[in-house]
Amino acid sequence: MAGIYIHIPFCKQACYYCNFHFSTLLSYKEKLVAAIAKELFLRKDSLAGETIDSIYFGGGTPSLLSEKEFYAIYEAILKNYDTSSLKEFTFEANPDDLSDTFLNWLKNTAVDRLSIGIQSFEDVHLKFMNRAHTAKEAYESVQKAKQIGINRISIDLIYGIPGMEMQTWESNLTNAFSLEIDHLSSYCLTLEPNTVFGKLAKKDKMILPLEENSSSQFERLQNLSEAAGFVQYEISNFGKPNAFAIHNTNYWNGASYLGVGPGAHSFFPGQRMWNISNNQHYMRSLEKDELPLETESLSLADQFNEYVMTGLRTMWGIDLAFIENNFGHDYSNQIRKDLEKHLASGKLIAKENKWVLSKEGKFFADGIASDAFVINP
Ligand code: SF4
Repeated sequence: MAGIYIHIPFCKQACYYCNFHFSTLLSYKEKLVAAIAKELFLRKDSLAGETIDSIYFGGGTPSLLSEKEFYAIYEAILKNYDTSSLKEFTFEANPDDLSDTFLNWLKNTAVDRLSIGIQSFEDVHLKFMNRAHTAKEAYESVQKAKQIGINRISIDLIYGIPGMEMQTWESNLTNAFSLEIDHLSSYCLTLEPNTVFGKLAKKDKMILPLEENSSSQFERLQNLSEAAGFVQYEISNFGKPNAFAIHNTNYWNGASYLGVGPGAHSFFPGQRMWNISNNQHYMRSLEKDELPLETESLSLADQFNEYVMTGLRTMWGIDLAFIENNFGHDYSNQIRKDLEKHLASGKLIAKENKWVLSKEGKFFADGIASDAFVINP
């Protein structure tokens, strides 16, 4: 089983925290969609013999696609890949794009899961982050999608926003759960260097909340989501049982996925690829039937580090028997020594051959994983 990820590199406006690849110039959208369809054709052999169980349109903002553009990409997938066992088709959307007309045509496609970029139910925070929608649009987008019959809905929420009190964060979470969504992705605001917030921070014009405040909001997220019946199946992802995202789960479990579109990443066993993050260069390459991508072969140490880093973030943890069988005795021996102190402190819990982070350990996931990293010889 493998996945297909399509990156739609357009947005109405730049959110001040966003580090994804996108352009706000929409005039050549149709031409870029044709290039994506061409890339899907040129790379069809990369998943030959594989069946696709998950399609994910992300971005950027897929909800800026017209119906015609959506079908140009979807038909290129159907024509070139085996989707006979498709289990999930996720489409990312922003609330301000989800008009009745839009939802009506989307409902008649193969899309069965909507991921809505809400980020906050507070106008003051939406403005602060330069989001293009209001809190009212955020609520209504979820309600309308449900009314129209799209039942699998995930939303994104951000915590650690400067000035956001705990009470406001709790009310964001309560609002989310009252909308009867079945999945929530929630991230702490970070200051990436090439974003508006990152540049302001460099000039000391923006300061994030203290780490302990963000940690308290993360803890509240864990507790309230659990009380609402959600399972934290990955550090930043919470799903109702049976509503975990197949796309995300495949990624964390090391399944192959093909990423198409400018800036998209692909993964195949032992190999990582990434497309150029420049829309014009991307289109020019495809006009010449050339793939605008770079490839990196992953050493055994790279693959081990990736396995530990992604595995520890999930509720399934890392499997010592898998490490022994796939990476060898030296690796399994070493990780036992490297992570022993975290078992002793209770941040890691041993469940037979599996090691998973405890609730407390989830606050230190990156640090714990890096203690086990192996340096390339
Ligand atoms: S957060 Fe989403 S909508 Fe905002 S700029 Fe980034 S990709 Fe576009």
